[in-house]
Amino acid sequence: MSVDDQTWATRAACTAIDPDRLFGKGAEQRDIRSVCFSCPVRMECLAEALNSGSSFGVWGGLTERERRALLRRFPEVDDWGLWLQREDDDLVAEIHARRAPRILTRVRCAS
Ligand code: SF4
Repeated sequence: MSVDDQTWATRAACTAIDPDRLFGKGAEQRDIRSVCFSCPVRMECLAEALNSGSSFGVWGGLTERERRALLRRFPEVDDWGLWLQREDDDLVAEIHARRAPRILTRVRCAS
């Protein structure tokens, strides 16, 4: 799927919820993101948020804090869609898991 292809949004699992719920603070983001773990377009959503540097809310099952940590850790990445397809990468596998990923701990350990 092309990064420019926005049709993925029509298949988003969050179309049935109030969008404001994705833009709460801290714990609210961690709670609501459970909807993302069964979303069929989760990686497209996450790639778009990382590529555009979206600073607020839950995208692709990651909180804004987790996405900031990824962007800081990998400033050289210019195509997050490709990066998220990497195989044999523990961090990518963690992100793909259908549960809350332990991004902050892993990014700190990899620094
Ligand atoms: S991953 Fe989460 S925020 Fe993104 S489209 Fe799916 S449900 Fe919505």
